Amino acid sequence: MDKIKQQIIELLEFPAFKMQGQLQLDDCPHSGFYNANDEQCADCFQGVECLFVGNTESISSCQKKAFDRLISQLKIGIDYIDVNLQPNHRSRRRCYCENCSWLERANATLITAEKLVK
Ligand SMILES: [Zn+2]
Repeated sequence: MDKIKQQIIELLEFPAFKMQGQLQLDDCPHSGFYNANDEQCADCFQGVECLFVGNTESISSCQKKAFDRLISQLKIGIDYIDVNLQPNHRSRRRCYCENCSWLERANATLITAEKLVK
């Protein structure tokens, strides 16, 4: 179980890094650190990305976080990378770009992880 946890934590770095690159923080009073007590954060259009980056950091620093939290975080990451994929990457032929390779690894890890929690 520990090995797959480590795998998920490593996988989460990729979407977190991508999201961090896309965050526009000029108008953010918290410099990108999601604040659960601030209503502005709940309504923020970047809420999902910001929360993901923050959660990934806290999960990585505390590796004892519940396994199902890691799995749901991985699912958000997969959705994010998938949604941002250009249509030509969805063709049936295998693509080796960093996004598609990551998705393949992430989906395989997700399947393994979900079998473990059943
Ligand atoms: Zn691709």
